[in-house]
Amino acid sequence: MKIAFFDTKPYDRPSFDKYGSEYGITFKYFETKLNEDTVELAGGYDGVCAFVNDTISAEVIDRLVEMNVRVLALRCAGFNNVDMRHAYGRIHVLRVPAYSPYAVAEHTMALLLTSIRRIHKAYIRSRDFNFSLAGLTGFDLHGKTVGVVGTGKIGRVFIDICRGFGMKVLAYDKFPAADLDNGDTIRYVDLETLFAESDIISFHCPLTDDTYHLINKESLEKCKRGVVILNTSRGAIVDAEALLNGIKSRKVGAACLDVYEEESDLFFEDNSGHILEDDTLARLISMPNVIVTSHQAFLTEEALENIAQTTVENLVGFFKNNQCPNELCWRCEGAQDCRDGKCF
Ligand code: NAD
Repeated sequence: MKIAFFDTKPYDRPSFDKYGSEYGITFKYFETKLNEDTVELAGGYDGVCAFVNDTISAEVIDRLVEMNVRVLALRCAGFNNVDMRHAYGRIHVLRVPAYSPYAVAEHTMALLLTSIRRIHKAYIRSRDFNFSLAGLTGFDLHGKTVGVVGTGKIGRVFIDICRGFGMKVLAYDKFPAADLDNGDTIRYVDLETLFAESDIISFHCPLTDDTYHLINKESLEKCKRGVVILNTSRGAIVDAEALLNGIKSRKVGAACLDVYEEESDLFFEDNSGHILEDDTLARLISMPNVIVTSHQAFLTEEALENIAQTTVENLVGFFKNNQCPNELCWRCEGAQDCRDGKCF
């Protein structure tokens, strides 16, 4: 089996080479992203392996099908970058539904602590032997209320971490879990209540039509003054322009973003020698109370190992056994909420 692997980074190759050679799969690594301009590179391969910022549009899918590429193996959980309606009936789409919810949840808490305890400021100061504490006052997480939108694998780990800090949890999910709400420290509420009563709001839901710009001008107006917004899910869940205005007006106390609406041409690349064209991102990054990491939350050794192993097992299951439990939307036309092989 020969697989064209797009958007390759140096940290991808060791684990994919290891599992690929174990299971007889050869990867051809391309640094370029998969999109309408690069899809020709997939000619002659049995499948393609893509990541979060590859563009798998109808045009790309049609060309893959014309070139007899039978399978798209996503090496990520989210699939908002795939035109699933168009893929239905044309190409098989596999994904890695879970690789380390701990990686993302722990990074979310790392961002929160860095932000509210001003670690990013203190680090720079002490490197310059500036040991002043002025302006570094934070606040305790203990006793604060965190709103968690999306109580799947990552959301639940994040809730556990927050409970460890003695925080109260208000949760919202389109499909609430039966065993999470304890009627006391963890409660499911509607979004209105979550926005109104949370000191910190963290997003762990997929990007869908329902969740697009969940944080916008109107929802921010419902939030507490000084609310901290955490987004390690998908950029377009937050309207970046509205967030920037919320920061400027002091309504938003801090924001931590591992994802950004327009990240695909910027994140994962060294743009340090370039003029940043995106004024909204530049202004957000310039704020003392905004922390941006470039879609890094997944990046742990454990996650990379699990991503490679599951992707290779998905491909082996598909090609050798003609089935894969992590196939998306082959049975359910265009459903957006596929979890654990089931479509809702
Ligand atoms: P999951 O499928 O286990 O959980 C997602 C939860 O969101 C589910 O409980 C689902 O019912 C809920 N949901 C669906 N639609 C909703 C809606 N409209 N409103 C509220 N909740 C809704 O997924 P997961 O593994 O926990 O991942 C969550 C998200 O994290 C992924 O969709 C992905 O976008 C993001 N992610 C980011 C990184 C990163 O590196 N930053 C890595 C992995 C995943």
